[in-house]
Amino acid sequence: MNIIQKLIGRKRKKRSQILSALVDANLVCRSDAEACEDAARTLPIGIPKKLLERLKGRSRSDPLVRQFVPSTNENKKSGKELTDPIGDDHHSPVFGLVHRYPDRVLLMPVSSCPVYCRFCFRRNSVGGARLTRTQLDKAIDYIEQNNEIWEVILSGGDPLILAPQRINDILNRLEKINHVGTIRLHTRVPALDPDRITSAMLKALDIQKPLWIVLHCNHASEIDQSAEEAIRKLIDSGIPMLSQTVLLKGINDTSTDLTKLMRTFVENRIKPYYLHQGDLAQGTSHFRTTLRHGRNLVRTIRGRLSGVAQPIYVLDIPGGFGKVSAEDAWITPSVDGTAWKVQDHKGVTHHYEDNIEPLDTQ
Ligand code: SF4
Repeated sequence: MNIIQKLIGRKRKKRSQILSALVDANLVCRSDAEACEDAARTLPIGIPKKLLERLKGRSRSDPLVRQFVPSTNENKKSGKELTDPIGDDHHSPVFGLVHRYPDRVLLMPVSSCPVYCRFCFRRNSVGGARLTRTQLDKAIDYIEQNNEIWEVILSGGDPLILAPQRINDILNRLEKINHVGTIRLHTRVPALDPDRITSAMLKALDIQKPLWIVLHCNHASEIDQSAEEAIRKLIDSGIPMLSQTVLLKGINDTSTDLTKLMRTFVENRIKPYYLHQGDLAQGTSHFRTTLRHGRNLVRTIRGRLSGVAQPIYVLDIPGGFGKVSAEDAWITPSVDGTAWKVQDHKGVTHHYEDNIEPLDTQ
């Protein structure tokens, strides 16, 4: 057996073990296990031990369970859904880096995550390894050579899954580049795997240039006492925090849930930043709300929530044309009202359909 066969065998064994644990915990129905294993071939299952303990005893429709436990719905795909919904590949001059806007780049040092969100828009690319030394060198060289780059956004995968020493090495190299003015790090770790926020990690994140942490969190129940503690440690060590939330059907798509979530952020000193319209990733239609529903929700929370707790509702235009506000005049209904006309930041208009029916492949 060669090394690749061994790795595949190990992955398959791990997948079956996690699924058995989920079946035993009554989080996956025994008769669905095989179809869920199929879904996990595209997007691995990742649930840290402590999170699994939190999920046990909850119903299958619970907002935390639905985000991380695979479902048979993931095998239902529409021809209009995309493998690269926000067009990262069109803007990737070197491996592990996306340069979509002139003044900022996305650097993805690792493609694995502590949790795998079942709606992930990078579901076809996450779950692998970290960048090799040579790949990282090439990505950092690119940033060095392009002096219009002012902000580097560390994403992935989840950068906080890396060892503190590795993160510190990357941050140190980035902050030595004169034209890099600020670094941003996108993560789910403080809420869902808070034990990783150790004193070694805090030390690794302690750099001279401004570092912002953006917490991806979709429901107030994600923030338990351990999460609050991890967030407090990060903020007390001088790191400002922002939030990003994906609007998800049946999880947070009511004004009550959104209000509670945004207030929870502010109560934990996190400034609400993005509320994302769900991307057209394959096999995620069971999570996607319509744009119309999202707009109505946001209108409702505009009227009831303090300004400090308001996020920006955004749509990433499929194909890599960037984000636009989903609220204002940039997005208008098409003439027959079945789709939308979306204008990008260059003034180019795109056709956008949000009400996509999946093909039942089962
Ligand atoms: S943490 Fe981010 S990259 Fe990882 S699975 Fe979730 S959404 Fe995808």
